[in-house]
Amino acid sequence: MAKFLLRGPRPAGGDPTDLLLADGRIAEVGVGLSAAGAQVIDAAGLIALPGLVDLHTHLREPGREDAETVESGTRAAALGGFTAVHAMANTSPVADTAGVVEQVWRLGREHGYADVRPVGAVTAGLAGEQLAELGAMAECAAAVRVFSDDGFCVSDALLMRRALEYVKAFDGVIAQHAQEPRLTEGAQMNEGEISGVLGLAGWPAVAEEAIIARDCLLAAHVGSRLHICHVSTAGSVELIRTAKRKGWDVTAEVTPHHLLLTDELVASYDPIYKVNPPLRTAADVAALRAGLADGTIDAVATDHAPHADEDKDCEWSAAAMGMLGLETALSIIQQVMVDDGLLDWAGVADRMSVRPARIGRVDGHGRSLAPGSPANLVLYDPAAGWTVTTDALASRSRNTPYRGRTMPGKVYATFLRGRPTVLDGKLA
Ligand SMILES: [Zn+2]
Repeated sequence: MAKFLLRGPRPAGGDPTDLLLADGRIAEVGVGLSAAGAQVIDAAGLIALPGLVDLHTHLREPGREDAETVESGTRAAALGGFTAVHAMANTSPVADTAGVVEQVWRLGREHGYADVRPVGAVTAGLAGEQLAELGAMAECAAAVRVFSDDGFCVSDALLMRRALEYVKAFDGVIAQHAQEPRLTEGAQMNEGEISGVLGLAGWPAVAEEAIIARDCLLAAHVGSRLHICHVSTAGSVELIRTAKRKGWDVTAEVTPHHLLLTDELVASYDPIYKVNPPLRTAADVAALRAGLADGTIDAVATDHAPHADEDKDCEWSAAAMGMLGLETALSIIQQVMVDDGLLDWAGVADRMSVRPARIGRVDGHGRSLAPGSPANLVLYDPAAGWTVTTDALASRSRNTPYRGRTMPGKVYATFLRGRPTVLDGKLA
């Protein structure tokens, strides 16, 4: 098996050193390493991070292969520095049985440029009426640990309680899409000043916060693990901060777009900005950044949501919700967190690899760059600015809000178990 000698990168932004990758592992770390027969990669000036782990990816297979496949989505993941992704369950058919999650898991093994961890649905058909086969999905080859009806909220309190209780038996976690359905019927954008001006139906912050409050209380009551998907409001951050202070087993994620974009962009009526939960205010963005910086929010998760052109290139009210995220996530985090001094590179490693791997119980990922660790890592050039063009994206879809935007840095290489999936910024 090929050996790689990475010459001079800075692990998690620390002092430059060399890393020798052999037999799928990090064999040695130290200054001035040499290894006969190893391919030498000049990594001076690059940041080395453990391979990124995404808790929230929509790969669209099976069912919407016109928008994305396991292969195209994990290509996008690799280009973004990810070595493991969680594939959300809102496929067609829904990933609510051992059969479907095993199918997705197998596709990942056969075609994946990153490890694919299927997420199982909480309720059958995402219908919110009865629990799916949680135990069977946990025990099958896909070994599901994260369960979510993402796209829909598990709004029934009793069902949510039962799901939280059930997954304790196999160390699972319920990842809640917090959206009170009655408070968001017909909602089109964040409820606030801008929705009033534009005349679009508002999506109030309280619709998210009410579910988060309820579910934190439920998780504490039954002593189970709760994860909150794509937190988007300042009030949500405050609720999670309180839950953590009480010692409850609650974790949360935020998307790069909720850390950067605001509801003022909706004034363009460009559906590229239509996303669930909606873009919020500048005050919310500031609170989300602070929450990620102080660790109240555990993880960055992309909510990569590819959509075919016909579902996105239409009037605002008819357009599908969601935007691409995998290929730009690390660059956005550099821009909004690192370059602004809110998070150092060790913090980025923690929020984009270590903690998401722990939340998802993903073996072999999110480990420190030390001898013996599986060689899952990314080399990132924080000074390699690039401009986003849709033609260059690996995703099958084109719905990025960043077309034409200049990013501050770029992934140079990604290694999955010692083999490059990306080298010199291109798929290997
Ligand atoms: Zn969601």
